[in-house]
Amino acid sequence: MARHTGGPAHNMIYYYLRRLYRLVFALAYSRTQFKLFLGASLGDINQRMLTLASEADYFAGFVRPVPIQAPFGKSVLVVAPHQDDEAIGCGGALCLQTQTGSAAAIVMLQDGADGFETTGMTRSQLTELRNEESRQAAKAAGLTEPPIFLDHASLSDSLAAASEQVRAIIAGRKVDAVFVPFILDAHPDHRWANIILAEALKNITWNVRVLGYEVWGMCIPNVVLVIDTAIEEKRKMLDCFKWANTAVDYTNSTIGLNMFHSRMLGSGLCRYAERFFEIPRQEYIGLVERTRASAASSAAAEAATNSQARN
Ligand SMILES: [Zn+2]
Repeated sequence: MARHTGGPAHNMIYYYLRRLYRLVFALAYSRTQFKLFLGASLGDINQRMLTLASEADYFAGFVRPVPIQAPFGKSVLVVAPHQDDEAIGCGGALCLQTQTGSAAAIVMLQDGADGFETTGMTRSQLTELRNEESRQAAKAAGLTEPPIFLDHASLSDSLAAASEQVRAIIAGRKVDAVFVPFILDAHPDHRWANIILAEALKNITWNVRVLGYEVWGMCIPNVVLVIDTAIEEKRKMLDCFKWANTAVDYTNSTIGLNMFHSRMLGSGLCRYAERFFEIPRQEYIGLVERTRASAASSAAAEAATNSQARN
């Protein structure tokens, strides 16, 4: 609730002070805070604790997201593990990128057909159904080319092949910004997508912005994007995924999440927002390696505890 203490001039000053606080201070401080945070926190916190902290927005007190705008680069690539992740996580960003006339592409890593046995379809029939929905969504986002479908049945078994395919796409398209699921996302395929991307980026010589998007949970947001002018296109993209939407209403839940994130900016400044965890290429590669090592040691500790409990 607002406190009325003065006339229009006072309100105007208050408004600008609030904007200054929300935008300018954020710009001034968040980069250094972010670096400190990367160095001190992500390196040695147990992965499970880090994931819990991220889900609970624990970092909101000291990582203040900076507003970003399209275009995000001359050539953007969205790395999507499954058909629908590209719309849920960064559909708004993708639509805004194409609205500026800048290049954008999608690479789909997995065939999206896990659990096909219960559907009455073959694995390849389910893949084709979901790929077609993804083609329609790409059109709705204003992309001139369909997504590039790699159709791997298992990402963990396809690390070498998939990372080489992603590297070739990044090199061929001179990609300078990549969207990928947030590194601590709850779905194992989404975490594998990060390992695949990090391997690919090791063989790229230029800097690439990496932006981690939200699908199965919250990210640690250090950048925020207003998507008010792309929300209808994003809704159209989400509606294309009829198969996934029969299990979970992703259109409704995603639009709701984007509406919730509008709180990151001042009242009247934003209705819908996407949040990302942005990190440059070199730091990203290191971070993926550290979280991989942390995941491995957490898994080993868990296995030891379980075997002790059994004995
Ligand atoms: Zn997914």
